[in-house]
Amino acid sequence: FFDVLSVFLSAGIALGVLVRDYTSLSQLEKQYFGFPGEILMRMLKLVILPLIVSSMITGVAALDSEVSGRIGLRAVVYYLSTTIIAVILGIVLVTTIKPGVSQSADNIERAGSTPNVSTVDTLLDLVRNMFPENLVQACFQQYKTQRKEIEPSKTNMSTSNTTTFPPFTTIISTNLTKDYKIVGSYSDGINVLGLIVFCVTFGLVIGKMGERGRILLEFFDAMNEATMRLVQIIMCYMPIGILFLIAAKIMEVEDWEIFRKMGLYMVTVLSGLAIHSIVFLPLIYFVFVRKNPFTFSLGMAQALLTALMISSSSATLPVTFRCAEENNRIDKRITRFVLPVGATINMDGTALYEAVASIFIAQLNNYDLDAGQIVTISITATVASIGAAGVPNAGLVTMVIVLTAVGLPATDVTLIIAVDWLLDRFRTMINVLGDAYGAGIVQKLSKRELERMDLTSDVDVANP
Ligand code: ASP
Repeated sequence: FFDVLSVFLSAGIALGVLVRDYTSLSQLEKQYFGFPGEILMRMLKLVILPLIVSSMITGVAALDSEVSGRIGLRAVVYYLSTTIIAVILGIVLVTTIKPGVSQSADNIERAGSTPNVSTVDTLLDLVRNMFPENLVQACFQQYKTQRKEIEPSKTNMSTSNTTTFPPFTTIISTNLTKDYKIVGSYSDGINVLGLIVFCVTFGLVIGKMGERGRILLEFFDAMNEATMRLVQIIMCYMPIGILFLIAAKIMEVEDWEIFRKMGLYMVTVLSGLAIHSIVFLPLIYFVFVRKNPFTFSLGMAQALLTALMISSSSATLPVTFRCAEENNRIDKRITRFVLPVGATINMDGTALYEAVASIFIAQLNNYDLDAGQIVTISITATVASIGAAGVPNAGLVTMVIVLTAVGLPATDVTLIIAVDWLLDRFRTMINVLGDAYGAGIVQKLSKRELERMDLTSDVDVANP
């Protein structure tokens, strides 16, 4: 399947270049061209909700609360430590390569404007988000505040891709009134973080109910299986969808020159991502699991390629599940628990990118950062990556938190918008890889508990 996907991906690139160079399609026609890709995105997003709900509830309920607590703790320790490693790596690279020092901010056009947002508001919003006041609403939350649209054309971002346009409006409207709108954690209207908190608690309660809770457990388990079968159907359509998705994107990008101007910055981000995914993550995996990490990554190839194509860890989640369970044989009790949470809060790629990008912006502004500010950047980049939703360009949005925290103009986020569509793809790939390695490591560390559970339980609901 991976081979098929690569062939379609290359065909998509070739088709995009051909159509762009030899035809003169209007903006609308280009949008029509990308239609099959849009359908793929819609299908993948469609299964996010049933998948997260059913996998989290059954995942937690199938473990006893002590075991799930321990697994949760291991996962969180892994998430935090790898994110911090990624941030430090980003800071070391950007302060060594200094991609912004030779260029002035005026050479790189500012596109559009983005208002300020305070870190406190963001954090409060994040926590608020964990406690949805209405469960149904959390599944299709509409932005409550008045949306002051920033036109995509002003920001140099893709115009056709309205569904993947980051909610910049979020930032405009963040405040402490009851009309709040949260910066991160919303995946296309779904309050993922709130749902995760609810599902974990609900799963724990069901697990504790014994016989009485069994009917609910079986219901959600069947729902999970049905959703995974849907995923299987979607996967058949995936190569076609990806071909058109990438072709339409290539046709759409007008300013290739920007890549030359921003070359060193992009090289810094990409090399950081490469080092993190080829050296650090595999090393950590090897230390704990003692198995070949590259065979593991290869097992995840399909999910990585999907992440690269669609720039969304949440929408890649169905494929991540399949790869982790089928190719890498990770226990479903682990994947159901660790992967959805990882897709929402564990973003090594995003954290690294936010650290590099904010220091790059400081360099462009000839702004000397002291040690305290560098520490502030590390902390806020970590928080911002946790707060970013698993949707395209979310990291760009939450970067405003980092910039504001060290007194850099938040509007300067617009300096890097033009190349974000490309960097986003790569960092999403690393986000997904980080989640997968995490599941592998947590499984290894929880081996004894899982074996003990296998011995004591008569029916294994998570692995029927
Ligand atoms: N697109 C990324 C993801 O889904 C988030 C980001 O923008 O960094 O993981």
